Amino acid sequence: MTQFLAAKSIILIGTFMALFFAETIYPKVRRRLGPDRYISNIGLWAFTVPLSALVVIPLTAFAATQAFWTQPVLLAPSINLLLNLILLDLFLYWSHRAFHEFDILWRFHAVHHLDQTLDTTSAVRFHFGEVFISALLRAAFVFVMAIPLTTVIIFEVLVLISAMFQHSNLRLPKNFEEGLRKLIVTPSHHWVHHHPGPDTQKHYGTISTVWDRLFGTWSQTKRDENMPIGIDDHQDVPIADLLIRPFKDQSKLMSADDMGGENDLS
Ligand SMILES: [Zn+2]
Repeated sequence: MTQFLAAKSIILIGTFMALFFAETIYPKVRRRLGPDRYISNIGLWAFTVPLSALVVIPLTAFAATQAFWTQPVLLAPSINLLLNLILLDLFLYWSHRAFHEFDILWRFHAVHHLDQTLDTTSAVRFHFGEVFISALLRAAFVFVMAIPLTTVIIFEVLVLISAMFQHSNLRLPKNFEEGLRKLIVTPSHHWVHHHPGPDTQKHYGTISTVWDRLFGTWSQTKRDENMPIGIDDHQDVPIADLLIRPFKDQSKLMSADDMGGENDLS
């Protein structure tokens, strides 16, 4: 378990640095970014890292090891692993969709969507409340489906790599990305999900794009380099306001959001 978690940390830090470096050299969108946005994204991450270590990981480990039944071994271990990974990805599709469709969940997820451009740091921009609620939902699913702990850890690594990749501002060859997105969520696919308006209710997939085709959330919008990113009529706010935003009266938020203007198109 400890070795798994150490390997996970090394893989994730390596992926983060590689993508951050790559998107700086080959950016898809050129924007001048102020320091406030990085403070928000990394600052929110600083809250979720200890939460992960102290609550999320123990909770997930408990759910995976204390399930009241064991999955029967009917297939080869690799097929079993693949099926469980697909099952978890399907669960995340509906979990992400629920965070958009239920107001009580959206108030937390909106913190992620208020980012007014995207890059690798957006992948770690989540309110600690969302991370906690997601962990509870996922633990319940893992417990009910009796998904083995090693499968859950492998899935977590894949999700984090996928999240960094799809939020990144990396310029990819067009045909390569179009081919890849038939199965895998790519930056162009996920940036459309961050496009204000109806597209925010599209492209909920986390690893695979198959669920968006299957459940009617595939958008025909093509990402273009000047496409706005964020939430309609809301600007980003400093990190102190992001932390308390989900607990505020939502009807009063529109006038309170006032940090906009730092991200200028160049
Ligand atoms: Zn979303």
